[in-house]
Amino acid sequence: MREKAASLLNVKLEEGTVASLIDLKGTIKGVQYKTKNGQEFIACAPLTIVCDGCFSNLRRSLCNPKVDIPSCFVALILENCELPYPNHGHVVLADPSPILFYRISSSEIRCL
Ligand SMILES: Cc1cc2nc3c(=O)[nH]c(=O)nc-3n(C[C@H](O)[C@H](O)[C@H](O)COP(=O)(O)OP(=O)(O)OC[C@H]3O[C@@H](n4cnc5c(N)ncnc54)[C@H](O)[C@@H]3O)c2cc1C
Repeated sequence: MREKAASLLNVKLEEGTVASLIDLKGTIKGVQYKTKNGQEFIACAPLTIVCDGCFSNLRRSLCNPKVDIPSCFVALILENCELPYPNHGHVVLADPSPILFYRISSSEIRCL
């Protein structure tokens, strides 16, 4: 998606790690971010989309009610194993939770 967005003529792509949102009296006006080489910048915009994933530090301050994390996924990669039915995902209805197995490369199976 980033590649596609960057290919548009009216898009200028800037990449960095957002340190904080710029909050002006309860309205988000942009972000403060740091580039790979440590330079700090501010970017302002009429719309800021916070999409920094499930471990977001930024969203916490925006959510009301507060973010609740009622469950989690645990994953591991099994190397050089076979599943009973090749080319199929597998769901094991176990207790206390279902377990998924699916191939992600010729030598790796993901287990969640
Ligand atoms: C092992 C595993 C398997 C999965 N399998 C599937 C599947 O088969 N099908 C499916 O639909 N979903 C699957 N999911 C879930 C799916 O990956 C997530 O739901 C989805 O990626 C969430 O997208 P997102 O854009 O919200 O966050 P993310 O994909 O986590 O993207 C967030 C981005 O924000 C960046 N970021 C974080 N903090 C900052 C910051 N301060 N400044 C700048 N950038 C920042 C991160 O580097 C990341 O690139 C799986 C998840 C896992 C962990």
